[in-house]
Amino acid sequence: MKPTVQYVESKFDEFNAMIFDGKLPKIPVALSNAASYVGLCTFKTRRRPFRAPEYYGFKLRISTRFDLPEAEVEDTVIHEMIHYHIRLNGIKDTSAHGKVFRQMMDDINRKFGRHVTISHRTTKEQREAALDKRPRLRVVAVVTFKDGRQGLKLLPPVEKKVSAYHRALMRSGRVSGIEYYQESDPWFNRYPTSSAFNVFFVPMDEVRKHLTPGNQIRQM
Ligand SMILES: [Zn+2]
Repeated sequence: MKPTVQYVESKFDEFNAMIFDGKLPKIPVALSNAASYVGLCTFKTRRRPFRAPEYYGFKLRISTRFDLPEAEVEDTVIHEMIHYHIRLNGIKDTSAHGKVFRQMMDDINRKFGRHVTISHRTTKEQREAALDKRPRLRVVAVVTFKDGRQGLKLLPPVEKKVSAYHRALMRSGRVSGIEYYQESDPWFNRYPTSSAFNVFFVPMDEVRKHLTPGNQIRQM
């Protein structure tokens, strides 16, 4: 299911009454398209001398990128509400999912027959499935270092940016050569595109499978 703001708000109210004795003040719900999380409870911290830090500006963020079963969306909301409860009450825990968190989680699971887990991160398969499948043109650079290592860089298909990248890397003295390909294979969507002068060391055998020799371009 793809939850809506209204749906998440109603679940918050439901679990607040059922699990948290209605003691959690309402917080804004924000939906996102994030691939890195399913749920997040964000907040701001105010620090003053000689006082415990104060937490405020709580927000419940839910990603709608994954088509999860309803029970998992509910468990995600509960997971974030445990974080919220702990922060709100200034309860010290041993870590983000420390002793206090686990105790509350286990109690809730037992008492209410839930399956809340520690890792609300998505599986590799879910992230793959959520990847953007649209073809997008970019310049794929294969950078060969003097020590024999090879790295990958995705550049916007803009001549000025590619030549600036080329000059900067060649000037570093560590690079022996760079191949450039114009590719629009959505497989590359898993890596970020930027004009920063960096390189990613990723499995190059896999990368090569997605490069077409006919798409190689001369250095721009
Ligand atoms: Zn968590």
